[in-house]
Amino acid sequence: MKNVEYFAPGTLKEALQLLGKHGKGMAVLAGGTDLVRNMNLENAYPASFMWIGHLGLEYVKNVDGVIHIGAATRMQTAGTSKLLQSKAAALAEAAGKMASLPVRSLATLGGNICNASPAGDAICAMLGLGAQVVLKSTRGQRVVPLEKFFTGPGKTVRKPDELLIEILIKPTAKNEGSAYAKVGRRQALTLAVLNVASRVKRDTKGNCAEVVIAVGAAAPTPLRAVKAEASLRGKPLSEAAIQAAAEIAATEIKPIDDVHGTAWYRRKLTKVLVARTLRGAGGLPEGEG
Ligand SMILES: Cc1cc2nc3c(=O)[nH]c(=O)nc-3n(C[C@H](O)[C@H](O)[C@H](O)COP(=O)(O)OP(=O)(O)OC[C@H]3O[C@@H](n4cnc5c(N)ncnc54)[C@H](O)[C@@H]3O)c2cc1C
Repeated sequence: MKNVEYFAPGTLKEALQLLGKHGKGMAVLAGGTDLVRNMNLENAYPASFMWIGHLGLEYVKNVDGVIHIGAATRMQTAGTSKLLQSKAAALAEAAGKMASLPVRSLATLGGNICNASPAGDAICAMLGLGAQVVLKSTRGQRVVPLEKFFTGPGKTVRKPDELLIEILIKPTAKNEGSAYAKVGRRQALTLAVLNVASRVKRDTKGNCAEVVIAVGAAAPTPLRAVKAEASLRGKPLSEAAIQAAAEIAATEIKPIDDVHGTAWYRRKLTKVLVARTLRGAGGLPEGEG
């Protein structure tokens, strides 16, 4: 066991000053479910920790038509949020079912994002909802679309002095929905072999006006299947169009063989889960896939 300095600031200002001073050597501690695991299993000790549980960063609220979620919001809070269940269903579904209740009671959305696992459940759901993240330091604040946040497994554009403070999501409208689906090696307490989240908005004629499709565990970072998204825009959400989009999405991923599954299986799953989440987001009955 190494000696590690521990800080628990009571205000955001104090937290940002600490991060600015300690920079790279300081690890932000949220729920600790990744960080402590990495210390125990990989001997990855930072020089210091800063716990963010006293900063008031746990909330889910609608402010002027945008959902604001504090970075320290725990999975269990997100999963049971009525606002997310009705206006960002993919995230409520992913957060409410990941891991186990004890883990969900500690693990935060900000931690899931900053840990930057390509298989992160909440990451995939938020990417599929078109989320943005707010990064703050003593130098200022910036808003980054989630699809531009990840640069590789465990790597992000976050600078060492920046704290992820908030996640922003446009609530789904009346003619819009979102859905999340995951396949793991077993039903519960497991990392995704593949996960997908989709968001579909229809116009007054019933055609797809806006489509977002996110796929996780299929490349070094979670990704948007942008060609599949484009293939649906302006078209009715027919089973043929869904199947065609699912085929395209499977060509956009860059899967590998690993202990969780093979690249071949991940491509197969992509087709099934993209189709399933598109139907779910579009309010259609589950098909044969
Ligand atoms: C038994 C078990 C089961 C799990 N199952 C799943 C699963 O099914 N699906 C899944 O996706 N994950 C799973 N995980 C992984 C983990 O629970 C999640 O990634 C969780 O969301 C991490 O959040 P945390 O608050 O615990 O992060 P922490 O461990 O506190 O932090 C993770 C990383 O993010 C950084 N960080 C945290 N918050 C911020 C912030 N606000 N600003 C800047 N940096 C920050 C930390 O410095 C650290 O590098 C599991 C973990 C365990 C131990």
